[in-house]
Amino acid sequence: MTGSKKLDVAGLLQAKLKELDADQAASADSRAPVALDQQSVGRLSRIDAMQVQAMAEAQERRRRGERHRIELALERLSEGDYGYCAECGDEIGLKRLDFDPAIQTCIKCAGRAN
Ligand SMILES: [Zn+2]
Repeated sequence: MTGSKKLDVAGLLQAKLKELDADQAASADSRAPVALDQQSVGRLSRIDAMQVQAMAEAQERRRRGERHRIELALERLSEGDYGYCAECGDEIGLKRLDFDPAIQTCIKCAGRAN
């Protein structure tokens, strides 16, 4: 993998991290605990609010997983391991990396894991 390609990937991954940060900040309100003693909120709207909160929490968990994958990819990039499968050490296909720059495994190992 060439140096400029590596820079591209680093920039792409950093941009994804920023996107995750922005999403996280934007959804902070919906993840706040639902007040149970709020008299202005009726029973039904409280249930609505709790469902919204549950969905926001699920999204937040996905974001955390995604962030972890991106941070790992950046680490591998700086260590020179980027582009090689974390399982078997083979080169990961460029199309695969283009599709998901944070991917850690080659197509063979991904097939085995799932
Ligand atoms: Zn592999």
